Formats: sequence, C-alpha cells, structure tokens
Amino acid sequence: MFSTEDTIVAIATPAGRGGIGVIRISGPVAQQVAGRLVMHRGSFEPRHATLTLVRAAAPASPPSGPRSAIDQAIVTVFPEPSSYTGEDVVELSVHGSPVVLREVLQAAVRAGARLAEPGEFTLRAFLNGRIDLPQAEAVADLIDAATPLQARSAFDQLQGTVAAAIGDVERDLFDVIARLEASIDFPDEGYHFIEPPTLDAELARISSRLDQLLAVGRRGRLIREGRTVAIIGSPNVGKSSLFNALVGSARAIVTDIPGTTRDLVSETVDIDGLRVTLVDTAGIRDTGDVIEREGIGRSLGAASVADLVVVVHDGTSGSVQLQSSGDTMPQLSEKRVVTVTSKCDIPGVRPLAGTIAISSVTGDGIAELRQLITDGGSEYGDCPEITNTRHLELVDRAASSVGGARTAMKAAGGRLPEEFILADLQTARDALEEISGRRTSEDLLAHIFERFCVGK
Ligand code: GDP
Repeated sequence: MFSTEDTIVAIATPAGRGGIGVIRISGPVAQQVAGRLVMHRGSFEPRHATLTLVRAAAPASPPSGPRSAIDQAIVTVFPEPSSYTGEDVVELSVHGSPVVLREVLQAAVRAGARLAEPGEFTLRAFLNGRIDLPQAEAVADLIDAATPLQARSAFDQLQGTVAAAIGDVERDLFDVIARLEASIDFPDEGYHFIEPPTLDAELARISSRLDQLLAVGRRGRLIREGRTVAIIGSPNVGKSSLFNALVGSARAIVTDIPGTTRDLVSETVDIDGLRVTLVDTAGIRDTGDVIEREGIGRSLGAASVADLVVVVHDGTSGSVQLQSSGDTMPQLSEKRVVTVTSKCDIPGVRPLAGTIAISSVTGDGIAELRQLITDGGSEYGDCPEITNTRHLELVDRAASSVGGARTAMKAAGGRLPEEFILADLQTARDALEEISGRRTSEDLLAHIFERFCVGK
C-alpha cells in the first residue's frame, strides 16, 4: 500500500545546471525538515516568498552565520491542505547548481525526509483527493508535450475536463442502475421503477454519448501519441532528401553513394500541430553487406511499426518499383501507404500514376504530403475531451457493455430480468469509475506513476 506518512524530498527541476533549482519537500514534517536546512528563524508566512540562507550540509558546520551557508534560497511554504499534494509542502529555490542541489537534498534526508519516487508528489495529490486520476495523468502529459497542441490539450485535462466529459454519462448510468435495483428490491410493488421503453431510451442516450466520446477520443489519441511515419525505398531514390525537406533541417546525411544511410535516423517534428516522428530508413535492396543488411532489417522493422509508410519511387528510374528480397511488401500490405515520385524537378521525369509528385529541391508536393501525414491538419486545431488510450479503452468497454445490455433486451422482447441488464450496466459503470480513479488498483497506479519524472 502506498504510504503518505513519511516526508519526501526531491529536486523538482531538471538534471544539470540552470538559473534556478527547486527542492520540493512534502509530508507531515516538511516544515521542520526545511527549518533545519535554512537559517531563517521563526515561522514562514504561508505562500509568501522568504529570502534566507541555506546551510552547508557538513555536520560540523556551525549552527548559524553566513560563513556556514552554501547558497541563498527563496523558501515558500504551502500548508496542508491547500498545497499541490494536499500535505505541508515547502519549496526551496536555490541557484541551479547540481552541487548545491545535491547538498540540500542530502541535508533534507539527514533532517528526516526520504527521497521521493518518480511521480510521488502527484501520486500523493491523487491519494489525498486534490486531483482525480486523469488530472494526474495530464500532469505527465503536459511535461512530456512536444507540440503546443499537446500542451494545450494536457492543460485542459489538468483542469478536470475528462471527469466533466464522462460525468454526465456516469450520472445517467447511476440513475438507471438505481431504478433497476429498486425494481429488484421491491418486486411486489406491482410496477417497475423503470419501464422497458424508458430504459431503452435512456440507454440509447448513454450509448450515443459514449460513441461520441469514442469518436473524439480516436482523434485525441493521435494528438497525444502522435504518428510515426517511415520513409522507405530503394537506395538513392531521395529518401534522406525528403526526410530533410519534411524536417526542415539537414539532419540526415545526404549522399549519392548508395547504401550510406545504414541506420535509422529519426526526428520528431510538429506538423500542423501533430507530433510526427519521421524515420528515414536504409535503402531496401538485396545486398551481401552485413551491416547494410542489418540496416535494411531495421528499416523493415520501422516500416512495420509505423502508422504511415511513405514509399519513395525514384522519378528518374522509369517504372521500376521497390527492389526487395521478397519479404518487404507483405509487411506493408496492412499499412497505410503513400507512394511519392521523387526528383520531379528534373526535366523529363513523369510521376507514376497514383503517386504524389515531389521535389525535395524545389519543395513541390511536400505540402500535399504533409497534409496526408496529418489527415488534413486543420482538424487538430481544437482539444478533444479524451486523448489517453487508457481512457479510450475504458470508454470503449463501457460502450460495449451498454450496447450488450440493449441487444440482450431487444432479443428478449423487453422481458429480460433486471439482474441481467444490471450486470452489463455495472460493468460499464466500473469502467467509467476506473477512468476517474474512483475504482483503481495499486498495480494500475504504479503503472501510471512510473512514467513520471522524480520531483513531479
Ligand atoms: P536516399 O539514398 O534514398 O536517402 O537518397 P538521397 O536523399 O541521399 O538522394 C540521392 C541523390 O538524389 C542525391 O544526390 C540527392 O541530391 C538527389 N536527390 C534527392 N532528391 C532529389 C530531388 O528532389 N531533386 C533532385 N534533383 N535531386 C534529388
């Protein structure tokens, strides 16, 4: 079981040097621990910055005086319950020196705190009821965001939009469940607390709202997770040049010696708000070179896990298609594939039918390709209510259960015993409660919080 009884400490700012470094302490004795680190006497005014000196960590240090100090600190105390974690929290902002930060951290441990686990501050905020689970997940998403749209969408969710989105459905579901349970509890009343036609209408409404959330969530997932695009093709067809044109900088090595991009080069870019990981791959062809074969193997691997595969056909080579050792194309058959004809700036080049004509030299066709990569791009202007796969899967489970109840009711001509309908609806409700975190397991929490950084 997670404990919130001890006081935890961590460096909350990124590793390395910086203008400011923040040490965060949370727990029942946070204020006492902080008191031992600094020379300020007396209490701290809540949520007010206090400038003081930080003691050197050495035990032999004299108790006070500027000579035993190692830095200045701005100390801010957030008394429970109005703090990030819901516990007493103290933040010390010192200079962003790894040496100073380490000393303060060690001193805090000696003064009674223990080192925090990844995400433990946010976990405590959740356990103490300051935030729900989607809000906690949004904290990690906000920190991980690579595009402004990802950041905006995470921030929206930090404000509680996920719980709000599923809240209406949960309430309606709860109401139906309560009425069905009453019908079971009072069978002699002579009437049902909810008549079958009303029940079906209520469930239809719930279903349609869940379907709406699912549709929004599929787009949302793309915003949160982004898309991986692998560029494949024979050697020297212009893959690296296309990669560079898409990235907008010269990251991959461009050369006219075939087979030099032996490893995978990847870059994450923001294309019209969408986080896109572009992977430039080794040219695919039959080869005896061991290293090159390894590179080709990785290319095929990248293509098989990509969301979209861009096959580059060399416009100067006539109608020749991908050279491959036979096992290339089967892996692509289930993929979304876009084929481009490269080098269309060269006179006489005729694009193959059904391909996008591009030139990495003039930039022709690149905008069209970007549109295909983002499914039109403009759709990503707003923030969907659901973006997290975990939430999406649970909404899906809820939708299937409600759908299952309706189908069973229809099949039974409206005479299905309440218990059967209840079982499905209860499954749907459990799924929705798992989203908000009202129903959760330690394993799930451990899984969610392990992806956090220490200090968050
Ligand atoms: P890769 O081996 O498939 O990655 O091919 P590269 O991108 O290294 O390109 C191979 C050669 O084709 C280089 O000499 C490039 O300058 C040239 N090339 C690539 N794309 C274009 C293009 O759009 N127009 C022209 N004219 N040359 C290109």
